[in-house]
Amino acid sequence: MNYEYRRQLPAPVQALVDEIEGHIGREIGVSRNPQMGCGARANPKAVTIEYRDELTTENMLHELLHLRRQLVNGIPVAGFPSGTKVGAPEGAPEDSESVMAGVSWLWFDLHVEHAAIFETMREMGYPEDLSAYRAAVDKLGSWDAPNRRLVAFGLYLVLMRHGTIGDRNNLVARLIEFDLLNPARELDTLIRKLEGRKVDQIVASVRAARIKQACIQVVYYDGKQGTKEVLSVEQALEREARAGRVN
Ligand SMILES: [Zn+2]
Repeated sequence: MNYEYRRQLPAPVQALVDEIEGHIGREIGVSRNPQMGCGARANPKAVTIEYRDELTTENMLHELLHLRRQLVNGIPVAGFPSGTKVGAPEGAPEDSESVMAGVSWLWFDLHVEHAAIFETMREMGYPEDLSAYRAAVDKLGSWDAPNRRLVAFGLYLVLMRHGTIGDRNNLVARLIEFDLLNPARELDTLIRKLEGRKVDQIVASVRAARIKQACIQVVYYDGKQGTKEVLSVEQALEREARAGRVN
């Protein structure tokens, strides 16, 4: 990582940079990209952290933990094939930024990752700012029903683990209003039970969200080789079985 960025980070975060770069044998790039909020790209050719305006220690740590899970720990992420229409909040303006925000909120897998990442951030003394999650609780009614279901699951997963008592009470009240409390609770129980078995967590969440399994791709990165493997859910389950990770 560029010296100017690296030197501003506290020692434990610098150690995380070293751990990831040591494993992948490449530098993590950091660049400003006015088109997006803060995000990490594990592109096989270049691993970069991009940010729009400012980059706090918490932002950096958050993105580094995504990269460690994907590139060092080999934990796959779920996505939609490019070109899939995922949907945006009802009434949202058609500009690319709000569509992106809509898509990322729907991305249930992102919240499975976040539930784990926020835990590590808290343990390291840099808790995530949950204001985006709080705002999403207030806007739950602006989604159409299938999308609301998916957003509700993500909110439950993160806020019941990391929110304040007030956050949890607010969320429960909204979920009761939309009749989503029981399905969110059931999925959360499953996700906890399947801890460490990411592909099984993906299968459980896809079912609960009533998304067709064929619409989902499972992406594995090999940080050392700099390669990316895109599999169907079935292929990912076979891969896990071969690795002895499914029992
Ligand atoms: Zn994230």
